[in-house]
Amino acid sequence: MTAAPATLDRIRRHLVGLRMPRALEVLEHLLRQLERGEISALEAIDSLLDEELSLREGRRVKAALKMGRLLTIKTLAGFDFAFQPSLDRNRILTLAGLDFISRHEVVHFLGQPGCGKTHLAIALAVEAVQAGRSVYFTTLAELIGSLAKAEREGTLRERIRFLCRPQLLVVDEIGYLPVVAGGGNLFFQLVNARYERGAMILTSNRGFAEWGEVFGDTVVATALLDRLLHHAIVVRIEGASYRLRRHADLLPDTSSARPVTSPETPRRRGRPPKLRTADLSAAT
Ligand code: ADP
Ligand code: MG
Repeated sequence: MTAAPATLDRIRRHLVGLRMPRALEVLEHLLRQLERGEISALEAIDSLLDEELSLREGRRVKAALKMGRLLTIKTLAGFDFAFQPSLDRNRILTLAGLDFISRHEVVHFLGQPGCGKTHLAIALAVEAVQAGRSVYFTTLAELIGSLAKAEREGTLRERIRFLCRPQLLVVDEIGYLPVVAGGGNLFFQLVNARYERGAMILTSNRGFAEWGEVFGDTVVATALLDRLLHHAIVVRIEGASYRLRRHADLLPDTSSARPVTSPETPRRRGRPPKLRTADLSAAT
């Protein structure tokens, strides 16, 4: 079967008019296959549309990842579950089903540095982007910095509204850096605004009882945890650092150290935030 040159010309013009560059690109090849009887007309149409759609999907995902500040890409396929036997693979795969986003829940990844918290948070965020959900990734320090700047400039409300827009907000690295004075309060305003309205993934190397210390304010920490543990899924990763897996012998023995992720007792200042047992058990 050979297409008439005039018809072929019109198809090309239509593809240009419809802004279907990939379809235009594969047209010749598909026609040749068609002429040789290697594919049917239906298969040719199917391929043509499929190629165009894949190109658009790829572009959409790329743009959404950039907008969501997911600049280093990690995937679930790239996560070695065998290295973290304490982690329930099925639980992570269930999270990848993204129902937690529709339910506006908060996922906490807790564990020592290098155990894969950021990797898993990003991998779930990437899954969300691919599924067409809007995502924004930030660290706690960056987030508080941006909120503090907005407050100084009198645009805090707009900034909070902006951060409420993504269906999934990832806040990485809670507990690594000390929070600046007033920072906990700013974070609380955001958490309160997103409460029961948008999903979050939080990662931390510190236990919840240490949040008073992390935020330098027990009252704010308690209020934060009240919201962040209400509809929560807490994933504790008990294993060692993946970064240091080949150098375990060079490290001080941490196996007997207090696990950061187990139910804690407060250290130094302040009372521990009050955790409601019902929430915690519902969370796990
Ligand atoms: P954390 O955020 O807990 O400090 P990361 O998620 O940044 O740790 O992990 C540190 C590095 O090790 C990253 O490059 C990450 O991709 C990699 N990594 C961690 N755990 C695994 C794992 N189980 N399988 C594959 N790569 C891993
Ligand atoms: Mg990290």
